[in-house]
Amino acid sequence: MDFNLSTSQLALQSRAREVGMRWRGQYAKWDAEDEAPYREVVASLRDAGLLGLTIPKEYGGKGGDALDYAIVVEELIRTSRSWILGEGPFATTGPGPSMILLAQEERTRRKYLPPIVNGEIGCAIALTEPNHGSDLTELETTAVPDGNDFIINGHKRFITGSPHNELYTVFARFDGIKGARGVGCVLVEKATPGCELLRGAEWFGVRGMPHGEVILTDCRVPKENVVRGAGHFRELMTGFNMERLHNSIYSLALAGIAYDEAVAYTEKRKSFGKEIIQYQSVYHDLVDMYLAIDVQRLLTWRAAATAEQGQSFMSFEDRNWDAFQRNWIAALAGRDVDGAAAVGIDASRAGSRRISVREAFDYASGCPGSSPYDSPECAARPETAGELTLTEDTVAARVAA
Ligand SMILES: Cc1cc2nc3c(=O)[nH]c(=O)nc-3n(C[C@H](O)[C@H](O)[C@H](O)COP(=O)(O)OP(=O)(O)OC[C@H]3O[C@@H](n4cnc5c(N)ncnc54)[C@H](O)[C@@H]3O)c2cc1C
Repeated sequence: MDFNLSTSQLALQSRAREVGMRWRGQYAKWDAEDEAPYREVVASLRDAGLLGLTIPKEYGGKGGDALDYAIVVEELIRTSRSWILGEGPFATTGPGPSMILLAQEERTRRKYLPPIVNGEIGCAIALTEPNHGSDLTELETTAVPDGNDFIINGHKRFITGSPHNELYTVFARFDGIKGARGVGCVLVEKATPGCELLRGAEWFGVRGMPHGEVILTDCRVPKENVVRGAGHFRELMTGFNMERLHNSIYSLALAGIAYDEAVAYTEKRKSFGKEIIQYQSVYHDLVDMYLAIDVQRLLTWRAAATAEQGQSFMSFEDRNWDAFQRNWIAALAGRDVDGAAAVGIDASRAGSRRISVREAFDYASGCPGSSPYDSPECAARPETAGELTLTEDTVAARVAA
């Protein structure tokens, strides 16, 4: 295990620092005006070779790995002190292009990926609706086939980059199928008749770029714009892996900014005749901050590195099924009250309801129909027939504890 960055990773980090420093000091204005010169920012990132970091070279990307991405985004946000700098790599590497990489037709990938990865066009992800956020699997937007096209109707909100972006990866319900199984993804261009983009509500935070609304009224899109139709929900969710990593890097960079500010202040501020950093209790606090940041960085980098190796902390493909199931049931049973809540049972009237492991997973994951037990090969395994009993006794014992 080598904890040192390679020469190429150090070069990426240094280029990111250079671009970040170029935009430093701008964010207060962008925040006040709620508008950043995003396209100029993207151009500077393009010139520094920091777009499309993990997208394969055949589609115009850099063909790098998730660790490259983590190193670059942390450095960009920390030095510029703005989330906007992280948006360039995110929009050209994150869920938008990742989703398009999952497209069933090669021509869809060839058409859209190069201009997105190059930063020529912006691609937003449009999942959230006025009535459905976390419960994405209940979404109401519809995609209905009509000859060689699909007709899309629906309302999306909180869409980062709307109304500026040119392309929207819209999550919609296909074939009227309820739940996760009916959710697919389709690409809608800004110029499509019936596509209305609004700036939406003004936000308190994450400012400088709108998080607007996308209203689709009888929008006709060709069938090659369908990334995936019904029945591919789990695959589509893998398109968010880079976003999950991004959110961790983003928090890491914000923590780094707070640390840098704290160090600068304590080095300057004097009390009783000397800089307060010289007091042991003050630098102990700084060391605690430093350590917390380092821990988060190590966890983030490990997630990036293991993702590259095709692993995850809880890989449904590789795990020991028996051990996993036992641990998982133990976790639920051990947390009776939380467990009862997770499976939708009011603790005060827990009774003695038996639920299948599969049902429990659906409830606990908040994503009915998407549990690993739903895949045909897993459904065939005998252990998925296991049951979990939540009784008044176990709940009462937990409350007493
Ligand atoms: C900075 C930012 C950028 C965003 N960009 C985009 C974007 O580009 N595209 C897009 O589609 N969406 C975007 N979103 C929207 C985001 O995906 C939703 O806000 C999110 O899915 C939550 O949905 P909601 O806001 O409707 O809250 P709800 O789902 O209504 O949740 C409300 C509250 O209930 C809690 N809650 C909900 N379900 C459960 C549960 N099962 N168990 C326990 N608690 C629960 C939540 O934690 C929350 O506190 C963005 C949001 C933010 C903050």
